[in-house]
Amino acid sequence: MNRNIRPSENSPVRVKITSNQEISPGVHLISYRRNADFIPGQVVRISMNEEDPPRIYSVCSGNHEPEIRILFNIKDGGLLTPRLSGVVPGDTIWDSRPYGGFTDQGGPAWWIATGTGIAPFFSMFSSGISDGKRLIHGVRHLNQFYFEDELEWAMGKNYIRCCSAEHSCDTFPGRVTDFLLQESEFPPGIKYYLCGKALMVVEVRDLLIAKGVPFENILAEIYF
Ligand SMILES: Cc1cc2nc3c(=O)[nH]c(=O)nc-3n(C[C@H](O)[C@H](O)[C@H](O)COP(=O)(O)OP(=O)(O)OC[C@H]3O[C@@H](n4cnc5c(N)ncnc54)[C@H](O)[C@@H]3O)c2cc1C
Repeated sequence: MNRNIRPSENSPVRVKITSNQEISPGVHLISYRRNADFIPGQVVRISMNEEDPPRIYSVCSGNHEPEIRILFNIKDGGLLTPRLSGVVPGDTIWDSRPYGGFTDQGGPAWWIATGTGIAPFFSMFSSGISDGKRLIHGVRHLNQFYFEDELEWAMGKNYIRCCSAEHSCDTFPGRVTDFLLQESEFPPGIKYYLCGKALMVVEVRDLLIAKGVPFENILAEIYF
């Protein structure tokens, strides 16, 4: 059977790992050959074996690139990520066709992410979507600003790094919520995309609403 032909829309297919980099302690970027089109911001379901329950991951690469990249952090005691962090080129994993609606709707927007929640925005950025976008990324440690060289070079002042546990001259000292609290202007007509853990998404959503952003202009992808 040709493995590139999908038996049905939802069937997982086996894909071969082409690289696995630990880009920060406990955080990996794996790659495998792309065999379906996707819209930046979409997700895939991944498992080590066909019979395992899959986990969901945002595609982190551009939609014209030959490979799919996935950014993830190892969850101690987790079913997938400790094993996924050990894959080497040539190993196979199972993945699904990309799906999901957390995609760019055009026009100016703020992208607000914490940790690996930067993945869908880096996919949009790598697909050529960044005009009029402002990226606010929050992490605990300075070595967790994944892709910062590319983002800083291309987005300049529209790329804001918030670091809560360490300080540097290039970063805002505190969490994304601290950064947003001291901002005075929240354009009401633009979209606000939030991606990360549930607590952050809920806190930022409430903060934006309190600042006058209409609820319908807030889009969220929760990693749980
Ligand atoms: C839409 C979406 C997109 C996502 N995209 C990404 C992404 O791009 N990158 C990323 O890193 N993550 C992403 N996630 C999260 C990801 O899907 C997984 O939840 C995560 O990687 C953990 O997988 P795991 O199998 O290793 O851990 P799990 O097996 O899910 O376990 C997670 C944690 O819970 C603990 N645990 C498990 N069972 C129990 C129990 N019974 N009692 C107490 N504790 C328990 C484990 O020890 C572990 O620490 C996304 C989630 C969603 C919903």
